[in-house]
Amino acid sequence: MQNHQIPRLWFDRNFAMSALNDCTVDCDCDCACPAPTFWASRPVLVDDRIYQQAAFQAQAVGDGLFGLMGADCYYVVANQSVLDFLDDFKNPLSAVSVVNTYQNSWGKDRVATLFQDLTCLGYLRPLEKASNENYPARQLTAWIQVTDRCNLHCQYCYIQKRNQNLDVSVGKEIIDSLLRSARAHGIERLKLKYAGGEPLLNFPTLRAVHQYALQESDRQGILVEGIVLSNGTKISTTVLQQLQALNLHLMISLDTLAQSADVRGASYQAQRAIELAIQNNLIPTVSVTISQATLKTLPFLMEWLVDRNIRISLNFYRPHAAMHQPDELTLIPNELIDAMLAAYNVIALHQPRQSWLNGLLDRVNLTGARNVPCGVGQDYLVFDTDGNASKCHMLMSEKVTNCRVPDVLAIVQSDKLGIQNPPVIQKTDCKDCRWSMWCGGCCPTLARGTGGKSPFCSVYQALFPRLIELEATRLVGQEIY
Ligand code: SF4
Ligand code: SF4
Repeated sequence: MQNHQIPRLWFDRNFAMSALNDCTVDCDCDCACPAPTFWASRPVLVDDRIYQQAAFQAQAVGDGLFGLMGADCYYVVANQSVLDFLDDFKNPLSAVSVVNTYQNSWGKDRVATLFQDLTCLGYLRPLEKASNENYPARQLTAWIQVTDRCNLHCQYCYIQKRNQNLDVSVGKEIIDSLLRSARAHGIERLKLKYAGGEPLLNFPTLRAVHQYALQESDRQGILVEGIVLSNGTKISTTVLQQLQALNLHLMISLDTLAQSADVRGASYQAQRAIELAIQNNLIPTVSVTISQATLKTLPFLMEWLVDRNIRISLNFYRPHAAMHQPDELTLIPNELIDAMLAAYNVIALHQPRQSWLNGLLDRVNLTGARNVPCGVGQDYLVFDTDGNASKCHMLMSEKVTNCRVPDVLAIVQSDKLGIQNPPVIQKTDCKDCRWSMWCGGCCPTLARGTGGKSPFCSVYQALFPRLIELEATRLVGQEIY
């Protein structure tokens, strides 16, 4: 059906395209986000091939506009004319014939651009690619435990503290094993998460290992990117300069604002580290673990963070695997929803540059569909200080193999004894959920023993529509297209 209103499409072109090439678009939380998948990564030509509409859903977001999302489609805001245009492709059509049909109303260039954008973003596909495909992993993410030591005692921490550091020689073996597996699996890039404990307590080793990773990956033609997950206590100007020299990203944990000027307090030190990093142009991501104990202070923390325009990663407290009873940190869903909405209101007032689609709702990633909640058992490896490999950083004691085997990734992928990460469509509770492709179901460690949906399911369901609406407001308000 032809609609004479000019088609309008808003999407974060930089973000969408960088998702193809830049692994910093994942949330940089402590988990392993599966890399976003878009089937088209090249400019699309208007050609004689037959195209078909991909499955997607449209949510009204006000002013006659719709937020569109689909499996392996990137989020866009569109007007009715775009929906009508897509509608024409319900039955397979050649691109040329559609351009011919619409060119008198909209002009040939506009129709061609619309067709190309919708194809690159996944909403139109050549007939032979119209079904969902299995995508080979393009990125391998590794957690490298730089030390088991920590100078803080966060109540929710799941790491077994002990006086044990990573040696440079073991670190190099870990890097070699990652590069071997990357080559064996045709993976183009590595993302290294240097973690602990507090990894900066063993900073000389971290630097030496990352230097080696840069040198070897360059020699072997594999891209590498690293991030340090820190509590901020050891951040100084010198440390920041050394991180920058190695092109390392920085994530600092901050869960609530300092209540007093106690310079030894964890929050005080994290805030100081964030300010210092900003002054030194190493803009950190801030990871916020939300627990029942910090719900009330969340909006104040958001205010402080958005004032500094830094990237935020909001994560929900997950009880330890061994815990059978809720503790005082265990989140109460209804109260969590209220606190999240209050936090979103604060962020919305500041018109963030950060997309609302990723990083602002725990494990959920609305930037692109995926069929699992995380990369466990697929493209994620966790190494302890001895070079043992496990599937998840919350289960580091469950060793699957080590960095000395020929292909550590193959062993982790084929392991049937440890936690499993089945596709969401195999989960009875989740398979019919309209959000399943963006939620992925429950964190496999959390779901262990139940296999059911996430304990945060009601929270996710309540907040998805709000995020979609807010991202629409951001894109349209900031004229991002
Ligand atoms: S049912 Fe809940 S946990 Fe499962 S996919 Fe949907 S939102 Fe996620
Ligand atoms: S299993 Fe859970 S904790 Fe482990 S990487 Fe996946 S989402 Fe994160």
